[in-house]
Amino acid sequence: MAPEFKPFETQSQLKALMAGHFAEVDAAARDPDGRVAWCTSVGPAELLLSLGYKVYYPENHGALLGASRRANEFIPLANAVGYSPDICSYLTSDVGAFLARDTPLKKAYGISGVPRPDVLVYNTNQCRDVQDWFAFYSREFGVPLAGVHSPTKIGEVTRDHVQGMVAQYRSLLPTLESIAGQRFDPDRFREVLSLSARTTRLWKEVLWTARNRPSPVTFFDTTILMGPAVILRGTPQAVSYYDALLAELRERTRQGVGAVEGERHRLYWDGMPVWGKLRELGELFVELQSSVVVSTYCNSWIFEAFEEALAGADPFESMARAYLELFIVRSDAAKEDVMAHLLADFGAGGVIYHDAKTCPNNSNTRYGLPQRLAERTGLPFVILYGDLNDLRCYSEEQAKTNLEAFVEQLEGWKAGRLGR
Ligand code: SF4
Repeated sequence: MAPEFKPFETQSQLKALMAGHFAEVDAAARDPDGRVAWCTSVGPAELLLSLGYKVYYPENHGALLGASRRANEFIPLANAVGYSPDICSYLTSDVGAFLARDTPLKKAYGISGVPRPDVLVYNTNQCRDVQDWFAFYSREFGVPLAGVHSPTKIGEVTRDHVQGMVAQYRSLLPTLESIAGQRFDPDRFREVLSLSARTTRLWKEVLWTARNRPSPVTFFDTTILMGPAVILRGTPQAVSYYDALLAELRERTRQGVGAVEGERHRLYWDGMPVWGKLRELGELFVELQSSVVVSTYCNSWIFEAFEEALAGADPFESMARAYLELFIVRSDAAKEDVMAHLLADFGAGGVIYHDAKTCPNNSNTRYGLPQRLAERTGLPFVILYGDLNDLRCYSEEQAKTNLEAFVEQLEGWKAGRLGR
């Protein structure tokens, strides 16, 4: 019998919020006076919102293509026009869907297609693929492409890093103002950043409820619950949703309700989700009485530096710092520190690394990090080879066997520690 999932009471609020967002962006794309900007998920969304743009995120569309298991229908279409099967499968599935003039947004939110952009804005802090991805659409729609080029693999985020990015963000303003048909307003920008700060603070509190035993929520919930932190940060609606969700999770904690019945193991997930297999993996972990309580991926939408804007700092500096402090931007040594602290903080007893074939940028398995972290913490790890969207790279059978063996190893390790 399949394990039972406990639906969240705030689920209908989440659905309405997401549907409302897509309806608004769709309406702006149809309105001659509306302005739509496409933005990378950790790009300068707050700047765009402050200039009155409705913001659409192609990566979110990529995730939807993966979660709805439609990615593999479309990837070959992008391959056929020269986008390699080895590059980001968000990119190839999204471009393929565009070429097929199809989208799961129709079924999910009732909109007829992806909203036409007026401008495309990227940040290479996560990878270079986003620049090529957005360049495709710039050619297709004949609209301007603007972006910032971020340093990557950095240890400490320095003042020079921040100032360099501030200069780049500021240099976007003339283009963005002219397309928006309005002048940049620093007060509005600060206001949007404070809404993002509140969203991100609440999102962290939501994720941090998983420090409780049993955890009221797992990675397989939070990958879905994070939608508004990704596409609606900077809006009051996201703040009220996370307020309600946090209250619900606190109540679950108070009642001792765990997301995984009889939780025996607590784990860390590093890397991208396998979007098309979230449900199956979630069910497997319930069977294995193991909660994935913390993840690099969901934590990536906690931007603590936004708080500096609330405290009166220059908003451009706060935004620049927030988008530089991101895990994916950091050196392996910095990543190792972050993970070691989180493992201790959440009481996690092991790490699952997802090595995603088409996203080397978010796969931390290739330069010895798992081995160094295991040596430092004494905690075991397992590597799953798969992909975020391209299910041809993922073997369910093999993943299941590896995860079952890993949990058995954890049992042995636990018994050894308890001297049994
Ligand atoms: S970070 Fe990975 S998944 Fe995200 S856009 Fe870049 S290659 Fe694709």
